[in-house]
Order: sequence, then structure tokens, then C-alpha cells
Amino acid sequence: MQGRVFDIQRFSVHDGPGIRTIIFFKGCNMKCVWCQNPESQKKENQILFQPNSCQGFGDCIAACPTHAISKNKNNKIDYDKCNSCGVCINVCPTGSLSLIGKDYSSKEIFEEIIKDIPYYKNNGGVTFSGGEASTQIEFLEEVLNLCKAHDIHTNIETNGLFSFEKLENIFRKLDMIYFDLKLFHPESHKKFTGVDNKIILNNARNFSKKKFPILFRIPLIQNITDTDVNLQDFICFLKGLNVSKISLLKYHNFYENKLDGIGRTSEKLNLPPYPEEKFIEIKKLFKKNQIQVV
Ligand code: SF4
Ligand code: SF4
Repeated sequence: MQGRVFDIQRFSVHDGPGIRTIIFFKGCNMKCVWCQNPESQKKENQILFQPNSCQGFGDCIAACPTHAISKNKNNKIDYDKCNSCGVCINVCPTGSLSLIGKDYSSKEIFEEIIKDIPYYKNNGGVTFSGGEASTQIEFLEEVLNLCKAHDIHTNIETNGLFSFEKLENIFRKLDMIYFDLKLFHPESHKKFTGVDNKIILNNARNFSKKKFPILFRIPLIQNITDTDVNLQDFICFLKGLNVSKISLLKYHNFYENKLDGIGRTSEKLNLPPYPEEKFIEIKKLFKKNQIQVV
């Protein structure tokens, strides 16, 4: 089974216990406006342009068979015309163009994972991230089976948008599940992520009821997810599920360069990094409600 991955990160200490290898699946069924990996959202491979290293030689313009490249560094690629053929990458003398996304068989990805086995002490292992790994479920299951057969600890970072009935048995094979909750109100969820949250909240209930090894996480985005009403709604929801610990993810603006590189500059939120005082305040709010922030 082939799957599409856009990055493999080694020696991560942020995406589960111990030292981990993160496999970033390409493709997502949501489109969050704050997405830290906007290059993950499309399932198709995409050209990434890095304007800072471009010297304007123009070899790519001459080589492009679909005339998708312009001189303008701020709007270099016309993505409606680009077919991701990769010709421009091969002629660029400065390496300013690259392809996001690569197809692997499950065995090939597993070979990448096992390179890091010597570092997987203290429950280290592999984390499936994205994008949304569950959108490539057959590929995910094959890689997961290989990891299980070799006793490698597995975690997934999921947005929770999938059929629980269909995927329950596959999720059972995971050692940990990081499940992101974003906005409680369905209309707000739809406005900022592109989809309704009914399935997600139901899945959160199912995972909790069936005692999966789950950690809920809430991304804190200024004036979007960190409003009093959203946090209070989630506190109430989580208490109803007897959740005693969660994780909070602070907004970063690192993703803005990536938006430039894929022709989506206008989608930047232009927010500063998440304020530490506000983060501490929110941690206290959860603690006051008997929910520990880890
Ligand atoms: S990937 Fe192909 S079609 Fe797209 S800009 Fe490069 S040369 Fe043109
Ligand atoms: S669910 Fe995650 S990967 Fe998908 S768009 Fe939202 S933040 Fe990005």
C-alpha cells in the first residue's frame, strides 16, 4: 500500500513520550485558519517556492511546460496552472523550488522509522501526524501493524473527524491518541475549520467512554479558540467525560513563511506568538476546574 507523506521529523520530544519519529501524512479533511502545516492540507503534491534564496535567473520560467511561473517573487507560481511535474525543481540553480509530498510504501516508511529504534527508550517511538493521518487509513494501518510487530510505541495526532465505527479497531492498536478539540460551537467550528464538529464531539465521547488512551488538546488561538465562552464550554464538556488532564497548544506564527511558499500569503492571521500571561491564566482556569494541563 502506498501513502503520501510530506515530512519525516526525527528526535522530536514534543509529540508524545520519549524521543520520537514524526511521520507527517499529506492531506487533511479540515482547513483550520491557523494550521501550522498549511502545506499538509492538500492531498496532492505541491511546489514550494522559497523567495529568499531565489536569484531571479528565470530558468524555471523558460522550462515550465504549463507557463505557470512568473518573474514576480510574491506571486511566483500560478497553482491553477501548475501540475506539480517538478521540471522547474530540476533546472533551478539555487534550490528555491521543491516538491511537498512523497509517496512511500508502508515498508519504505517503516524502514525510515526503524532507523531511529536505538533512540526509542522510555516509551519513545513513532507519532503519526499531518495533515490528518486517518485520511490514509489503509496505509496507516499497515505501518501501524509493522510497528506493533516490532514493539514500537505508537501515537497519533488526530483532528477526530472520521467514522468511529469504521476505524475503532485500527485506533485500538495505538498506544496513545492525541485528539484535538478546537471550537465547541458548531457554527464557529465550521467558520474557522471548514467543517461542522458534530462527528468530532461524538468521537470524543466514544473514545472517552471506551477508555482509549487519549489526551485531548486545545490549540489556543487569540480571540478564536481562547474566548471565555469556548473554554467554558469545553471545560463543561470535558468534565462530563471525566477528563482530568488535557494539553494546551500555544499559537505560533512559524507557519506564515509556509503560506508564502505555497502562494497563500493573503491567508495569514498576522497574530503575534501566544502571550505567556494569557496562557498561564487559562492553565489556572482549567486547574480550578480540576483539569490538569500537561
Ligand atoms: S511543477 Fe511543473 S507545472 Fe508546476 S511550476 Fe514547476 S515546471 Fe511548472
Ligand atoms: S486539522 Fe490539523 S492539519 Fe488539518 S487543517 Fe486543522 S490544524 Fe491543519
